[in-house]
Amino acid sequence: MVRLRRRLAGSNNHLARALAELLSADRIDEDVWDDFETTLITSDLGVAPATELVEKLRSELAIEGISEPARARQLLRTELVGLVDPNLDRGLNLDHAEGRPAVIMMVGVNGTGKTTTVGKLGRMLVAQGRSVLFGAADTFRAAAAEQLGTWGERVGVRTVRGDEGADPASVAFNAVDEGIATGADVVLVDTAGRLHTKVGLMDELGKVKRVIEKKAPVNEVLLVLDATTGQNGLAQARIFAEVVDVTGIVLTKLDGSAKGGIVVQVQRELGVPVKFIGLGEGADDLAPFDPEGFVDGLLG
Ligand code: GDP
Repeated sequence: MVRLRRRLAGSNNHLARALAELLSADRIDEDVWDDFETTLITSDLGVAPATELVEKLRSELAIEGISEPARARQLLRTELVGLVDPNLDRGLNLDHAEGRPAVIMMVGVNGTGKTTTVGKLGRMLVAQGRSVLFGAADTFRAAAAEQLGTWGERVGVRTVRGDEGADPASVAFNAVDEGIATGADVVLVDTAGRLHTKVGLMDELGKVKRVIEKKAPVNEVLLVLDATTGQNGLAQARIFAEVVDVTGIVLTKLDGSAKGGIVVQVQRELGVPVKFIGLGEGADDLAPFDPEGFVDGLLG
């Protein structure tokens, strides 16, 4: 958690700076509040939550007649944790019947970090003592299956692949089939993320899910979003949520982003929790999402 805090603080500390500025002003006038609100908005918190938060903070500070920085920071921390919603269930559903693996589908636009996240999640699950299998159902790009295969070798997980251009659903089916035959605990299925037409995407992802379900229920559909893409990422999230039942979000590239506020927006938009965050390109750079640790990272 210390590492998480350092990484987030490294990229998001403009919020901490804005807070310090707010608290060090001789008099907190309209301009100071405006600047603070702008900082919240540019960290992708969303206009409505940012405005609400500033209003709340203003009135609480006024009631308490406060100029003490530690108390103001504490108030802001409480409000931010509330916005991130600490009560959502963020656990990964890995329940499975005897002889049938839990299945997790990873969906999202190309380049968001889907394949990397499958690799990192595989590593995490193996470290927990689970037997894991990867399904390379992104058959559109040969490089995608190769990349997943490389991740598999790296983290000690076998990758089930098809030929280039093979039907993604059949690769997913084979992966789950092999998972059953080998008694795997979890099958992680990587999917293609071409967004050229919504209908094409809907057909493909829907079919992959339906075909998997002939063998085993799909436990989770995790949507991978790149935190650096802001509003564009939110628009993508909306499209995916329309075509498949998303059960959780993985927010990647938070290590390089000053826009951690996107967590709040995307959860509000989809009504599902952020379950993991990506903090780098390495195998261990995935963390379960912890609202309090995250907010502490944002505040620096
Ligand atoms: P996909 O097309 O969605 O499968 O995306 P990839 O897994 O190929 O990732 C695209 C690029 O993003 C690669 O260069 C990854 O190393 C990088 N990447 C993925 N996750 C993270 C992350 O959390 N932080 C950073 N900095 N880079 C990431």
